[in-house]
Amino acid sequence: MTRPDPAGTPATTTDAGIPAESDEHSLTVGPDGPILLQDHYLIEQMAQFNRERVPERQPHAKGSGAFGRFEVTADVSRYTRAAVFQPGTRTEMVARFSTVAGERGSPDTWRDPRGFALKFYTTEGVYDLVGNNTPVFFVKDPLKFQHFIRSQKRRADNNLRDHDMQWDFWTLSPESAHQVTWLMGDRGIPRTWRHMNGYSSHTYLWVNASGERHWVKYHFKTDQGVECFTQEEADRMAAADADFHTRDLFEAIERGEHPSWTLYVQLMPFEDAEHYRFNPFDLTKVWSHRDYPLTEVGRMTLDRNPTDHHSEIEQAAFEPNNMVPGIGPSPDRMLLGRMFAYADAHRYRIGANYKQLPVNASKSPVHSYSKDGAMRYAKVSDPVYAPNSKGGPRADVEHYGTPAGWHTDGDLVRSAYVDHAEDDDWGQPGTMVREVLDDAARERLVNNIVGHLLDGVSEPVLKRAFEYWHNVDADLGARVETGVRAKQGEQA
Ligand code: NDP
Repeated sequence: MTRPDPAGTPATTTDAGIPAESDEHSLTVGPDGPILLQDHYLIEQMAQFNRERVPERQPHAKGSGAFGRFEVTADVSRYTRAAVFQPGTRTEMVARFSTVAGERGSPDTWRDPRGFALKFYTTEGVYDLVGNNTPVFFVKDPLKFQHFIRSQKRRADNNLRDHDMQWDFWTLSPESAHQVTWLMGDRGIPRTWRHMNGYSSHTYLWVNASGERHWVKYHFKTDQGVECFTQEEADRMAAADADFHTRDLFEAIERGEHPSWTLYVQLMPFEDAEHYRFNPFDLTKVWSHRDYPLTEVGRMTLDRNPTDHHSEIEQAAFEPNNMVPGIGPSPDRMLLGRMFAYADAHRYRIGANYKQLPVNASKSPVHSYSKDGAMRYAKVSDPVYAPNSKGGPRADVEHYGTPAGWHTDGDLVRSAYVDHAEDDDWGQPGTMVREVLDDAARERLVNNIVGHLLDGVSEPVLKRAFEYWHNVDADLGARVETGVRAKQGEQA
């Protein structure tokens, strides 16, 4: 127990709750004498300080977040039995936004996709939706993910980021064209986290109470409106305030301006997948809104800041394998890879019992058979095995309904996805350039690409980059090449 001082603040204690003798002076033999090993409080302070950092995320290291709620505003019960999406349901949640490539101290306004990770504390356990602010991604197979991220981070020799390395990877991976077009466009640098959309990107499976199945993609549309930084604005902000997005979210919530997003889904009848013009499980493709329009589900609102960033945000462990009954995975290979990799990262970063931390813990009862391990404090009770005849928990098969997933068979292969009618890598980015962007946005896209290429990209990567953009759109490719060659001429 600590005694309050006259100003009403509590007395300092050690981590064991014992009153501390001094906040300023270590225990010495006389004022000029040596420090004593028995000064446990000094040792505790130094030892704890040495252990303050956990490994930063690899990738998505720089980010922040806030708490809030998700409210269902429409009726999608005919598509999913998940309790979190039943009419009128309100669920507590936490969100974390981040850049991908930068380290923990890197600027918030670098051109990069943004992580959009959500954790819902549902009555059926924790549901995580670990999305991005883009509907697609650079690669479609988890075998390439590690290589992709390394190409975006730092060289081995000088420890610098390197555009040559980035474009080398991209131009040898044509499936990246859609995401790179998106990245180099206006939305490649959001003005704030409040002014960007979030997407599941992956396709998931929704199953209703009768076992009927739909494929689903999530779109969280910002109610604040989409706003972006130009490259020049972002560069200025990176120098002026590297934590601009972190600060903006925190201060907006402090002011009582609670950002919100409306959740819509695209729903594809289960049987459509086989013959849809794009492979619906390919993470580098979207489903056209014309084919599968948006259906409203509900609204997410962030209204509470963390009080301890480390314990509530840095140690928040999002993992796409946390799916609740009524929601399942699709054959999207990137999703299937992430269902292993995320939980594995948390075990490494935070430790085996990270799901006991308050931010990660289920608010509905946990009756798992996990036990022991470092830092475990939740008590288990006998019996500690299943099956048992001693009254232990039993699996809840009925909760899932049948069928729970999709049918598959075939030989073991290492091959690309089955091609659908319009499944080339250049089609969808070409559509974006020609049909979604206006002239001014196309001009900014050309300028952003030219500026990026001029920053350290060498032959033969440069030539491949011109071909890459030519494949996306002939006019765009010509303008990029002309722009780069003209600047090179000026510099020569
Ligand atoms: P639509 O015209 O129905 O959709 C176009 C979409 O593009 C809208 O969601 C719009 O978002 C978004 N958009 C607008 N400007 C940009 C930008 N600078 N960068 C990224 N996205 C932007 O057409 P389709 O659904 O047939 O898609 C056509 C192309 O649009 C796709 O090939 C893809 O490149 C892109 N796109 C498609 C999305 C989808 O899920 N279908 C989602 C995002 C992009 P908003 O309504 O918020 O302005």
